[in-house]
Amino acid sequence: AGTLYVVATPIGNFDDFSHRSEQTLKTCQIIAAEDTRHSGHLLSAYSINTPTTACHDHNEGQKVPELIARLQQGDHVSLISDAGTPLISDPGFRLVRAAHEAGIKVVPVPGACAAIAALSASGLPSDRFSFEGFLPAKTHARKQTLEGLKKDTRTLIFYEAPHRILDSLSDFVEVFGINRDACLAREITKTFETIKKSTLGELLAFVQNDNNQQRGEIVLVIGGFNAEQEVENTEVTDKLLKRLLQDL
Ligand code: SAM
Repeated sequence: AGTLYVVATPIGNFDDFSHRSEQTLKTCQIIAAEDTRHSGHLLSAYSINTPTTACHDHNEGQKVPELIARLQQGDHVSLISDAGTPLISDPGFRLVRAAHEAGIKVVPVPGACAAIAALSASGLPSDRFSFEGFLPAKTHARKQTLEGLKKDTRTLIFYEAPHRILDSLSDFVEVFGINRDACLAREITKTFETIKKSTLGELLAFVQNDNNQQRGEIVLVIGGFNAEQEVENTEVTDKLLKRLLQDL
């Protein structure tokens, strides 16, 4: 039988395309891509002429058996997504699971992943973290999700769409407080890359005051719950309140 290769591609800068990723895509019999047209740019830039086939959330049900059949016939198949590591907030789970179920060898060809790149540069604790992917689009559901994560002591990693970053940051501030450590990682590996480590309150102001920060691709890394810091913050807030009340 053939092998299923799970191949990472760049998240912006083509120079992050590894030699092994390139060779794997060149030598396999078929590339299963999230969007064949999108991946066409990378493939043609590296003169990779391997046939491609679309494999995404909407056709995985029918595509998976087809690809498993080809693997069983001895073809090597590479799975790629539009950017970064397949399956990380990207399609491919059903294909990889089916390959294991069919006794087919699955081999990762690692490379860029926005979540890990953001975490590595965030300056936030990286010994324990939780990847949370995309938050719900609607405020109510989003706040509910955040409430559930409020006391999590691990560093939390979120993907966010540019048109939702302001709303999300406001919800983060509301639920986690203005003083929680956070890092905004935007356009990683690209021309307008921004890595800004600060607090949630300051990040919200930063994004509010600069429309450019509401563009492009964004990862938010949030420091975990820290009981000591929380007490300090409450004390500061209490003191401020007392002073304000005295002034009244
Ligand atoms: N599989 C990809 C990976 O390994 O990172 C993630 C795919 S997910 C559909 C796309 C999201 O990843 C974007 O909305 C953004 O949150 C994040 N992302 C991807 N590329 C990025 C980049 N260059 N800079 C910042 N965030 C990025």
